[in-house]
Order: sequence, then structure tokens, then C-alpha cells
Amino acid sequence: MRHGRGWVTDRLRSVLAEVRTGAVPRPLDDDGYADLVAAEIADAESSTLTRVINATGVVLHTNLGRAPLAPEAVRAMAAAAGYGNIEFDLETGRRGSRYLHCADLVRELCGSEDSLVVNNGAGALALALAALAPRRGVVVSHGELVEIGGGFRIPEVIGAAGSRLATVGTTNRTRVEDYEAAVEEGDVGAILKVHRSNFSMSGYTGDASLAELVALGDRIGVPVIHDLGSGLLIPSADLGLPFEPTPAESVAAGADLVVFSGDKLLGGPQAGVMAGTARAVGLARSHPLCRALRCDKVTLAGLAATLRLHRDPELAKQRIPALRMVSIPVEELRRRAEQIVATASRQGEEAGLPPLAARVDRGHALVGGGTFPDARIPSVAIVAEAGEEVNGVLARLRSHDPPIVARGRRGRVFLDLRAVDPADDMVLASALAKLPESE
Ligand SMILES: *Cc1c(COP(=O)(O)O)cnc(C)c1O
Repeated sequence: MRHGRGWVTDRLRSVLAEVRTGAVPRPLDDDGYADLVAAEIADAESSTLTRVINATGVVLHTNLGRAPLAPEAVRAMAAAAGYGNIEFDLETGRRGSRYLHCADLVRELCGSEDSLVVNNGAGALALALAALAPRRGVVVSHGELVEIGGGFRIPEVIGAAGSRLATVGTTNRTRVEDYEAAVEEGDVGAILKVHRSNFSMSGYTGDASLAELVALGDRIGVPVIHDLGSGLLIPSADLGLPFEPTPAESVAAGADLVVFSGDKLLGGPQAGVMAGTARAVGLARSHPLCRALRCDKVTLAGLAATLRLHRDPELAKQRIPALRMVSIPVEELRRRAEQIVATASRQGEEAGLPPLAARVDRGHALVGGGTFPDARIPSVAIVAEAGEEVNGVLARLRSHDPPIVARGRRGRVFLDLRAVDPADDMVLASALAKLPESE
């Protein structure tokens, strides 16, 4: 028996109530009732969280779960799901610390004295501020008061951390002297530099460099926090992306704390990573918020496995899906797209359906997740003509099992292949084959 008696009785009651209210056409025979009950049970059993095929061309799609994980990370997470030595020292048999598990790897990859992993990037930043500048001023450039998305705004995070925002400079230009003046004026606990990860500025612009801020911080005894956002550990040029500093570069430039996400271009599970000096990380680790923001054993296992892959940048690019997807050559995507369309056409023909109105065309993919706003990555899309039916076709793709999320524009449906796992190509083909069914 797969379901408890009480639970099934409740499902039967709910079906009967529906029949009584007339929501279901009557009369019903025994099979009709059985079907209704089976559908009710299947519906109640299905999870609200399900895997989808990402044909949007946005590699780190925040609404679709950001970074898909490497097989090494998935295996490590499954293995960690049972009992484990998360807070147990196997050598001494005494209590251990959960904060040790990724610490050595982050230190090694970022070249920092110490490190700490918490629930997400926003949490890491809030904790950094609360630990280094409690009830004190945090100096930020006007040009870096960004909204990351989902209402996460730098001024509000500073407020929520119990610190006070002290903005300096202007939207387009801020000099190190502006920071200096603010520090002289008031009670400043930290200087914060925020990487402009989701927008760009051009024209008459200028910033104080991290190195300048570190020199100022050293001189006046104020720590510098660098919120990097993405946390790409390998050089961005290796992926064909515009320049973005790596955490190791920020640490080397002397930032006291560098914070970044685990599930952007690091390619791991949702996490917030802090790398920095022993003093700054120590303050964060002993702050009460740290406990509230801690992440669980499964996340730590997945992050550690992902970080281990980063020890070899070539291995990272091969094994971490987000990195691999960003750098797949267009020709490979085109070959796959053509094969998908050919398979779909053949399957449709065999099923006696009208011919599929789809072709292969160039597309533009994005890194996504609030990173690399200007990087349009050449890509390949399967373009289906849908006319007035665009929304209907998109809805049918979403109701496929597994759901396929694509994009529609001006009478056409675009299925971009850059973020599609090749293992799902034939699933796409069979979904496409059925598209002309109801036209
Ligand atoms: C994404 C981002 C964050 C937030 O990280 P999450 O892991 O999404 O919480 C913070 N700062 C910057 C600059 C970011 O790009």
C-alpha cells in the first residue's frame, strides 16, 4: 500500500464533494469515479518543484534554479543526505565545526587567510556588514547602490544589517578622496565596494579602484568589503566573457572580506562565500547572525565537490554545466538543433501530423543571474512559427513532461539550445513533433 487509509479517505471525500457541487458532469459510472480519484491522488502527490528544460538561452536563470550542478556535486549531495560528520571530529571523537568543511578549499582557491560559507550571497553581505560595521557607517559609492533583483537593494541590506549608509561621490564618478572625506566626517565601520554585476555604465565614468580603497582603509584602519556577486573563479577570458575580477584577485588586492555567490558562475549550489583575513572572517563566524544564515550538510557537500573541480580550471570547464554551457561552440549547438528539427519532422510525419513549421536560426544567449549584463553570447535557436498562437504554444511546451520553458516574440517561439542539456535533445524533438497536433 502506497498511501495511508486516512489520507485516501480524505481524497475520496474531496472527490465526492466536487461531484455533489456539480463541478463534474454526471452521471458517473464506477470507472468515472475511479478516474476522478486517481487524478485527485496523482495531483496531490505531484511535487510543486519539478525539473524543467531551460530553452530560454539564459544559462543562470534565477527563476529556473540558477546553476545546474555537476554530477560530482550531485553525487556528493546524495551521499551527504544521511548521517555525516558535519559537526563531529572523527579523529578526536569530539564536537567539530560545520564551518570547517569548505574552508580549506575556499582558502586554497582564493588565497585568503580564512573563509566562511553561509546560505547565499545576500546573507554573506549582510553578515559581513553586521560583523565589521555594527551600528556604524558603511561608505559606498553612489554609483554602486544597486538593486540585485527580487528587491535586494544595497541601501536596504546595510539598514537590515544594523549599519548606517554613507554614500559618497556621484552616480557616474567617485574618487578615493570622496571616501576619505566621508571617513573623516563620521563614525565609519567599513568601506564597501559593490561589483556592478547586473548593469553597466559608459561615458564619463570613474571609480576608485579596490587597491586605492585598500590603501585608504589600511591608512585609517577601516576594513574594506568587496561584494563581487558572481564569484567566477576562473579568468573570464577563458569563457570568452568580458573582464570580471576573480575573488582571488580581490583577496590579493587586499580586501578584508570578499563575498560572492555559490550558484552563479561558480556553478555550485545556493550559498554565499566569504574569503578574507583571519580577523574579518573570525568576526563574521562568531556573530550571532552566522548561525541564522548557516547552510546545511547537503549544500556544503555539493559546494565542496564543485570547489574541488575548480582546482583544475580545464576540469571545471568540462564538468560544471554552467561553465560548459557558456563556452559550447556555436557549431556544436547548430548540429544539435538541426538533428532535433530533423528528428521532430520525421516523428511528426510518422504520426501523420501536418509538417512542423520550425527552422534553425542564430540566437543570443545570456549568462543571466544578474551577471555580465553586456555579454550577448552567440547561440542557436529552433524557431517555430506560431502566429497568433505564441502564448498557446508556450503554454503547451510548459505543460509537457518535463516542462519546457522557451521564449516567444512576434509570432515566433524560440527554443535556445545553449542551456539545454544534450541528454534532453530527443525530449525536445518529441515535444516539437507533437506541436502541429492541435493546429
Ligand atoms: C547576486 C548578487 C548578490 C546576491 O547573491 P545571492 O546569492 O543571489 O544572494 C549580491 N551582490 C551582488 C553584486 C550580486 O551580483
